[in-house]
Amino acid sequence: MEKIRIQKTTAPKPKCDVSKVGFGTVFSDHMFIMDYEKEKGWFDPRIVPFGPFQISPAATVLHYAPEIFEGMKAYRNPEGKIQLFRPIENVKRMNVSAERMCLPLIDEEIMMEALKELVKVDQDWVPSEPDTSLYIRPFMFGTDEQLGIHTPYHCIFSIITCPVGSYFPEGVNPVKIVIEKDDVRAVKGGTGYVKCGGNYAASLRAGEKASAEGYSQVLWLDGAERKYIEEAGGMNVMFKIDGKVVTPALMGSVLSGITRKSIIQILESWNIPVEERLLSLDELLDSIRTGRLEESWCCGTAAVISPIGELAFDNIKYTINDFKTGSLTKKLYDELTGIQWGKRPDPFGWTVPVI
Ligand SMILES: *Cc1c(COP(=O)(O)O)cnc(C)c1O
Repeated sequence: MEKIRIQKTTAPKPKCDVSKVGFGTVFSDHMFIMDYEKEKGWFDPRIVPFGPFQISPAATVLHYAPEIFEGMKAYRNPEGKIQLFRPIENVKRMNVSAERMCLPLIDEEIMMEALKELVKVDQDWVPSEPDTSLYIRPFMFGTDEQLGIHTPYHCIFSIITCPVGSYFPEGVNPVKIVIEKDDVRAVKGGTGYVKCGGNYAASLRAGEKASAEGYSQVLWLDGAERKYIEEAGGMNVMFKIDGKVVTPALMGSVLSGITRKSIIQILESWNIPVEERLLSLDELLDSIRTGRLEESWCCGTAAVISPIGELAFDNIKYTINDFKTGSLTKKLYDELTGIQWGKRPDPFGWTVPVI
């Protein structure tokens, strides 16, 4: 494969105070770009100053939305070195998404190298304050100048990064979540298991409604029967019921979160039973009414682990664990973030050094 060409900026931007900026609003100095043409494959991998793309007004992505993305972070450890968390999982999932959306696959090694090189070039942008990191956003979209509907034969793959603090203004404090009755996010056979922009576009209306009512996220029900719990807006969910951790199984409409997978592995290593299965709304509400729901949390790269303090459905509000962070939630948070930031041993071999 071609060597990554590096063109550094001549006008580096001043660094920001991450505790004061909103999630994903400030970008580092550089970005990675690589082009694709059907006859040539991927070519011209390069790191260039962060800046706009030039695409045709007819570009496929603007009309039919062939777009996929990933979300991961680079963490600064106590020695000041930088590490990634399970990056190969993101690389593999990007290809799962690409396959579903008829976008071209990327060689795993090339994408890994692109991630590491970009973080190296922008290493000064990896913040070191507690709970901060460099959020990394790889993404790909079709750019053909042609309105006929077809599999894209021109694409751009890019990676941008931004220094971030907490995702929710609440930080690691409990959040309020509303269960959505009307809109659905995904159905089996659709694109729910894929990280594509279209899923989010279709989720915005429910999100707006939730936010106007004071909730920070929507909890989705399954698209066919609206009977089973699926996941939160951009995060998976887990419920500790009767001493067991229950999380919706991956059956095509729920995104396979890397945080979810990691938490399950940690829980299993602690001999805490985990059940990946169908969890109906009825069962969940019943477990709250009968006091068997002990704790609940959302999990994803951006927000890590966020305790759920209140669930609302049909104008009824249910408080969970007195709106306090549960002890298992806290223990998981400390373990997972301990590994990610290199403050605790990494018994699973999940972290990958960059520098
Ligand atoms: C990214 C994402 C998640 C969380 O996945 P992680 O790999 O843990 O970050 C969950 N649900 C949806 C819809 C997502 O897009």
